[in-house]
Amino acid sequence: MFWICLPVWKTEQLKRERQSSDGPGISAEYGEPGMSVSSDITIVGGGQAAARAFAAVRSLAPELPVTLFSEESHLPYERPPLSKECLREGGLSEPQLVIPDSDYRHPATDLRLGSRVIKIDRKKHRIETATGDSHSYGKLLIATGARARTLPDVSGGENILYLRNFEDALALADRLKFCRNLVIIGGGAIGTEIAAVAAERSITVTVIEAGSRLLARAVCQMTSDLLRDCHLSRGVRVRFNSAVKAVSDGSVSLNDGTEIAADLVVAAIGVVPNAELAEQSGLEVSNGVLTDNDCRTSDPDIYAAGDVANYYEPYLGRQFRSESWAEANMQGMRAAQAMLGLEVTKPVVPSFWTDQFGISFQMCGNVTSDDIEMRGNLASHQGAIVHLDGNRVVGATCLNNPREFRLLNRMIRDAAVLDRTAIRNQSQPLTESVIDAAA
Ligand SMILES: Cc1cc2nc3c(=O)[nH]c(=O)nc-3n(C[C@H](O)[C@H](O)[C@H](O)COP(=O)(O)OP(=O)(O)OC[C@H]3O[C@@H](n4cnc5c(N)ncnc54)[C@H](O)[C@@H]3O)c2cc1C
Repeated sequence: MFWICLPVWKTEQLKRERQSSDGPGISAEYGEPGMSVSSDITIVGGGQAAARAFAAVRSLAPELPVTLFSEESHLPYERPPLSKECLREGGLSEPQLVIPDSDYRHPATDLRLGSRVIKIDRKKHRIETATGDSHSYGKLLIATGARARTLPDVSGGENILYLRNFEDALALADRLKFCRNLVIIGGGAIGTEIAAVAAERSITVTVIEAGSRLLARAVCQMTSDLLRDCHLSRGVRVRFNSAVKAVSDGSVSLNDGTEIAADLVVAAIGVVPNAELAEQSGLEVSNGVLTDNDCRTSDPDIYAAGDVANYYEPYLGRQFRSESWAEANMQGMRAAQAMLGLEVTKPVVPSFWTDQFGISFQMCGNVTSDDIEMRGNLASHQGAIVHLDGNRVVGATCLNNPREFRLLNRMIRDAAVLDRTAIRNQSQPLTESVIDAAA
């Protein structure tokens, strides 16, 4: 366990200031002048959102006591490389950190790795860890992320691998080295990324998908079809509307009786938010911890960010639990601002990406809508799908097209109204299609 403890003098000073404080703020000593820094901050979770929240607090309130609890023994690290570089390169010597380890070395930082929080006592403002430690909090951020959903009721299920953390990725990378026939259960982003890497390594890959298309929850029909074609053209076999009944040594049996050779089986069937802590403490939970747009939960001293949070997303106009790197970063930063009582940065259009077979798929806004216009040459993996509500742009899916992705992102933010014919006209810039921008 790696601890950087708050020195006793600092704790005592904090206690004194807390006792002598008249108003809600302890002191502005910890932060920028005029900032209403109300109390010390505790972060539960050690991933993307936690690290970004930590970094934001450190930069906005350099001396404020911050305690971070993570059940993992690593400093917060990036998960996207785990299904890409790590598998491609047969492993990584160490995880890629979200922020440098030197950023945690600070006298007001108390870093508790390998420490799982098991209880939040909201009345006493205390949390408890699995090893029996108790810790008081002023403001608490829940950034516990999500875990891989496991397959229920499959005979031989103990032989199935999952991918969520660094150790999972190393184990999978190792097994792929000797794998000839890989079966992947689940045709979402993680499943298809693993399939792409394995196919590039000349492994025979079969993806078993319960639904009728790939990435069905996250993208529109057209994007699913493009992705399917990428996989099929590289030799990946995809079985739609199929379910696995049993996994045995050397094969997988489907519900319809089909047997598929498999010396390795991976399931990537989505995630479950780690919201039990919040739920047990009586916070409002429904597919994640419910928050407003600024990461506030139903308790004014508790915030939630990242994959565990089901937050109000203004661009989609509804509660939304994102499973995206960009959102986890942004929410971590915004939660930090909110906990410090600062004005919270305006929300950005939610986005995510996946890299497969050298094609970068970038998505933002409402990309499940099938009301679309297309530009570029999507069959050659270069172009944009513009998602519309009437003539207003609400989402963008771009293939190897970062420039138009940025442009469309701004147009969604500005609720731009576009001319559909002009969108399709590749000979003129996308900006020419704007009829009106409301914002
Ligand atoms: C393999 C993989 C590839 C991905 N690729 C992409 C991609 O290409 N593009 C994209 O947009 N997104 C991608 N993502 C998603 C992105 O990485 C996640 O959305 C992001 O990591 C979420 O950050 P988080 O901080 O909410 O959760 P996490 O990063 O999961 O961190 C949560 C942390 O909290 C810890 N924790 C949980 N419970 C407790 C507890 N009770 N006490 C203490 N600690 C606890 C966990 O162990 C974990 O360390 C990928 C995810 C994975 C797994």
